Amino acid sequence: MFSQITRAARSKASMKYVGTKSLAMRLQTSSRAMSVLALPPTPKEHAKPGFEPYFVGTYINNQVLKSDSKQWIDVKDPATDVVIAKVPESTNEELDAAIQSAADAFETFKKVPLIKRNEIVFKYIELLKANKDRLAAIIVSEQGKSWSAAVADVYRGIQCAEHATQVTKETETVGMELSTDVETLTVREPIGVVSSIQPFNFPVMIPLWTIPYIIATGNTTVMKPSEQCPSTGAILADLAREAGVPAGVINIVHGTHNTVNTLISDPRVRAVTFVGGNNAGKYVYDVATKHRKRVQINLGAKNHTIIMPDADKASVLKAVVSGGFSSTGQVCLSTDILLLVGEAKKFIPDIIETVKGLQAKPGFEDGTFGPVVHKASKERLEAVIADAEAKGAKVHVDGRVHNKPTDPLYKDGYFIGPTFVEGVKPGMRCVDEELFGPMITSMEIGSLDEAIDYVNKNEFGNSVALFTKSGAAANYFQRNVNIGQVGVNTIVPIGHANHGFTSNKASFLGDLHFYGPSAFKLLTEPKTIITSWRGIDYN
Ligand code: NAD
Repeated sequence: MFSQITRAARSKASMKYVGTKSLAMRLQTSSRAMSVLALPPTPKEHAKPGFEPYFVGTYINNQVLKSDSKQWIDVKDPATDVVIAKVPESTNEELDAAIQSAADAFETFKKVPLIKRNEIVFKYIELLKANKDRLAAIIVSEQGKSWSAAVADVYRGIQCAEHATQVTKETETVGMELSTDVETLTVREPIGVVSSIQPFNFPVMIPLWTIPYIIATGNTTVMKPSEQCPSTGAILADLAREAGVPAGVINIVHGTHNTVNTLISDPRVRAVTFVGGNNAGKYVYDVATKHRKRVQINLGAKNHTIIMPDADKASVLKAVVSGGFSSTGQVCLSTDILLLVGEAKKFIPDIIETVKGLQAKPGFEDGTFGPVVHKASKERLEAVIADAEAKGAKVHVDGRVHNKPTDPLYKDGYFIGPTFVEGVKPGMRCVDEELFGPMITSMEIGSLDEAIDYVNKNEFGNSVALFTKSGAAANYFQRNVNIGQVGVNTIVPIGHANHGFTSNKASFLGDLHFYGPSAFKLLTEPKTIITSWRGIDYN
């Protein structure tokens, strides 16, 4: 499937750079440097002798630039371990230029009429749809997930862009006549420069949790993609330019600690959005709030799925596959542990057979799921499986050896095959840590109440699901479970963009959640205006 898609996309995008000629020239490319705006190489292409990695562009003032940095980080194809790109640690001058560009652009962009900004978002949606294959190809190359998961990554982001067009309703002026000729109005105004720090696992969806809302509300942004899959950032920014976003509104910088520290402490930045792991997220929260920024931070998770004995078997097995293995299990809503209530342990033989049938494959080939994002993740997951085995759990399907690709091209890839471990307990790493890999575990538990109690005691609050045919049990569960996103007979309970990402407990820091109605509140502030014309002579 992919080869057809790439062939078509490649012939359409045979030019190396999409955008104006000056963009390409500003990249100062050598013959072997390739812009992030081009299609990435497939494993077969980069395995050929003479292949050279491309340089990931920085995006400032609607221009793609090649960084002056002396420090470049390797981006490796997770399917092969080959270095396919180099991403810079943006220099202090580049960080300063990006923030200043956003600060300058804010002064004019905030005055662009809302209707006009909304037209840009509508055009942006069209361009995102038209470029979905190009974006998905970058995701597969740099992040490793399967083609269908990469396309879903793009579409899920587009849904947020569609929701951002609700700006006309979500930021509408609220007014009241206090008395004759005296009225009070509350208007919502944009706040300024917003910095955004992103994780590796959804390189299109997560930037689109912010970009369309930035455009719709009249703010500006400096974004830092994950250094592990950095190239979609500049494409998303360049598509915004093509949709009509003025220079300076969306800027992309790169790097690690120095870049993050600048983005969360610079006085020109009003708000910080962060999605990623617990350590970095808590650090960003502490520093950004100390610098009096608005913050919106999504962190790690530990997601449970409770299965009742009366659950529908086909739904349970479908949930095991999508909840545990889609996007290689590298999803903050992936299910880690099945809590099997009483006789629900009868589902184990079918779960084993279902998981055995799954296959790890390079993302560009048809398979169930791709490699994990880097070598350290692979080694960590192997150690997690070994730890569970050593502590007495039954490794029924062992991803260290089962259903991994056999082609020598992928011998160094970061593949973990499908894994199912029964009988896990606290004290095992697979219970105490977020799995973030193609692995599912199970634990037997006495009753629904015990299961709810177990879930509620967990520090995280990203998602939980229950499988049952009983409406009464489902109703009791959804009322009593203390988790921000709840599924009944459905796994990965991520709501439509209209509802926002409503995680709670240690999975979220801040007050206003990502996308949905609260995105507009984060990015605007209320101003109350009282006008009186009472007694004023109008002649
Ligand atoms: P990560 O924390 O390693 O990286 C996230 C971002 O923070 C990256 O841009 C990275 O460069 C930066 N960063 C990393 N360490 C830093 C540090 N010490 N100081 C400052 N910045 C730092 O996370 P990741 O591995 O990219 O993503 C996986 C994690 O993200 C998982 O825990 C997952 O649950 C979480 N996640 C959560 C959600 C959600 O909505 N709750 C969504 C996606 C991912």
